[in-house]
Amino acid sequence: MEHAADPSHPRYRSLLMRHRLEVAAKKGMLADSALIAHGRGEAYDYLLGETTIPSADAATRIALNALMQAEHPVLSVNGNVVALAGDEILRLANKIGCPLEVNIFYRTPERMEALLNDLNERKERLGLDVDILGAEPDATIPGLKGPRAKCESKGILRADTILVPLEDGDRCEALVAMGKTVIVIDLNPLSRSSQRGSMTIVDELSRCLENMLEMPLEGLPSVESYNHHQTLQNALDTIVDGMKNKF
Ligand code: ATP
Ligand code: MG
Repeated sequence: MEHAADPSHPRYRSLLMRHRLEVAAKKGMLADSALIAHGRGEAYDYLLGETTIPSADAATRIALNALMQAEHPVLSVNGNVVALAGDEILRLANKIGCPLEVNIFYRTPERMEALLNDLNERKERLGLDVDILGAEPDATIPGLKGPRAKCESKGILRADTILVPLEDGDRCEALVAMGKTVIVIDLNPLSRSSQRGSMTIVDELSRCLENMLEMPLEGLPSVESYNHHQTLQNALDTIVDGMKNKF
């Protein structure tokens, strides 16, 4: 059994996600700060009503279109992404026809191996033909120091459009500075990543990926129709309006 929680529990999905992180932590896939980052996301999800708000749904459709139209799209994944939605991110890469690249903030050989092994096992189980990059970094992201700058020239370095779920603000900014279209998935509309990304989907990662997987590719809204400020403001307004006349 994947988890101990009862599906009828009102916090079932939240408990399931926490359980996935616990399992991943035991496998050495996560940095110690991963659970803290998740907690920050959970708090915002609570405030957003644990649902995909309309402005996030619209941003998701536009982002999917941007990925489909890109010449070299890449999905950048870290430990939390593999733990929370490893199958979904692989299926999305398959749907778009692009590679995944493991790109982590606290890079150690052990964590990289644990993440690559987990993804490769999932890929085999799902029977997907997806390129999983990250094992052989031969390039760096300009403007970042140390191991977290490492990337692959055939992946993140040459990407014109890159999906960075749960990305750190610094790295998001460095990727934007390289001229890439950077699509962020982040529950916190106030984070630096949310603000500095080219497009931001203020939604929970696994929910957003499930939505992307269900979306038909025909009739997606144009990339030009995206309004960054409006998208972030709508998310904040949803939080603020949800607080009014509560008690
Ligand atoms: P930034 O570096 O962009 O300013 P931060 O330092 O506040 O952000 P980090 O720890 O770098 O945050 O990254 C975690 C981010 O991921 C947080 O903004 C959090 O809201 C978000 N987050 C965590 N879990 C999820 C999730 N499951 N779905 C979507 N977003 C999430
Ligand atoms: Mg940060």
